[in-house]
Amino acid sequence: MTDLYARHKAVLPDWLALYYEDPIEITHGEGRHVWDAQGKKYLDFFGGILTTMTAHALPEVTKAVSEQAGRIIHTSTLYLNRPMVDLAERIAQLSGIPDARVFFTTSGTEANDTALMLATAYRQSNQILAMRNSYHGRSFSAVGITGNKSWSPTSLSPLQTLYVHGGVRTRGPYAGLSDAEFIAACVEDLKDLLGHIRPPAALIAEPIQGVGGFTTPPDGLYAAFREVLDEHGILWISDEVQTGWGRTGDHFWGWQAHAAAGPPDMLTFAKGIGNGMSIGGVVARAEIMNCLDSNSISTFGGSPVTMAAGLANLTYLLEHDLQGNARRVGGLLIERLRAIAAQLDGVREVRGRGLMIGVELVRPGSDEANPRGASAVLEAAREQGLLIGKGGGHNTSALRIAPPLSLTVAEAEEGAAMLERALRCAQ
Ligand code: PMP
Repeated sequence: MTDLYARHKAVLPDWLALYYEDPIEITHGEGRHVWDAQGKKYLDFFGGILTTMTAHALPEVTKAVSEQAGRIIHTSTLYLNRPMVDLAERIAQLSGIPDARVFFTTSGTEANDTALMLATAYRQSNQILAMRNSYHGRSFSAVGITGNKSWSPTSLSPLQTLYVHGGVRTRGPYAGLSDAEFIAACVEDLKDLLGHIRPPAALIAEPIQGVGGFTTPPDGLYAAFREVLDEHGILWISDEVQTGWGRTGDHFWGWQAHAAAGPPDMLTFAKGIGNGMSIGGVVARAEIMNCLDSNSISTFGGSPVTMAAGLANLTYLLEHDLQGNARRVGGLLIERLRAIAAQLDGVREVRGRGLMIGVELVRPGSDEANPRGASAVLEAAREQGLLIGKGGGHNTSALRIAPPLSLTVAEAEEGAAMLERALRCAQ
């Protein structure tokens, strides 16, 4: 055990999740690579947890942050803040939500918490619909609506939550259904639930479940849900913390894969927009955003330094069409990984969109989830010089691949080859 790991264990909570038996200390990064304290270089296929959206140490972001920090780091939202207004305008325009207002927070958790507060206040109901297997953050209310109970450390919640099917397709009651059958079954489940309760405030859902293992519903699921929600006046909150900013390639936001549903009433964002700086936020129609009847601020939400990072990062993303890159390079990577999976017994499915790719592992010769296999592949990939993530339902049996969106074709091929070796070693 390294000295740093021993000190970490002595002073930080036991429940603070860490990857690897011998956890890595990352000291610096550049482009799609990071280096550890021993000088070992890794190709980064996880980008923190999708926090490095464009590239590590992107000069444009570093310059914007240091210039802003040299002027002033923070003043609070009690004063006018030009970088905050600039970024809010860009996000409002990109959101697709009409008459959009933007509120900045410092994390995805706080963004979802705010969206829940707005929805419950607007609709005067503390009931929320959430998806089974979902993850929405670590505050008291976000934990309370998180369907993935291995990430929900308390069952007490200020909200009353009801869970809907729509994430996991590989096992459980909806396994093996066609896209249309799956959507019909999920809609039936939702209707059945709503037939027995007073209409809840909102449905919150990740278009592709992140922590849940990049489970990817068929296009149009939320359009079908929306019809039912509209009949009852229930709001739709799209948690875009992982799926936003073009990561899914075909779309800028995950909700757009369900375009017939139109824009959600609210969307929440975080992670990638700051390229590692802590930015989160909510976009909502003005009518919903302004339904609160007392003051509310986030002291550090919208801090000029983080806003400068967000603006530089977003500008780079749009100018270099990284969404298009995610579609092209992600498409090639998915194809390559499917070809590899076809030769191996222990891979159940390669799923996802763009540069958000899940590889579901099973015990060879069976259909049983393989969480131990997922941990072994993570360790073997690290040996190869490749960082990946893992996720999944209560059994963490999916590998998660989400590199910075500037990934090159050569790096995608190199990473796929490393992952193939890791999969073979760990079998
Ligand atoms: N929503 C989703 C979909 C997430 O993946 C996460 C983080 N993994 C959160 C919310 C919470 O974000 P944060 O960790 O920034 O609070």
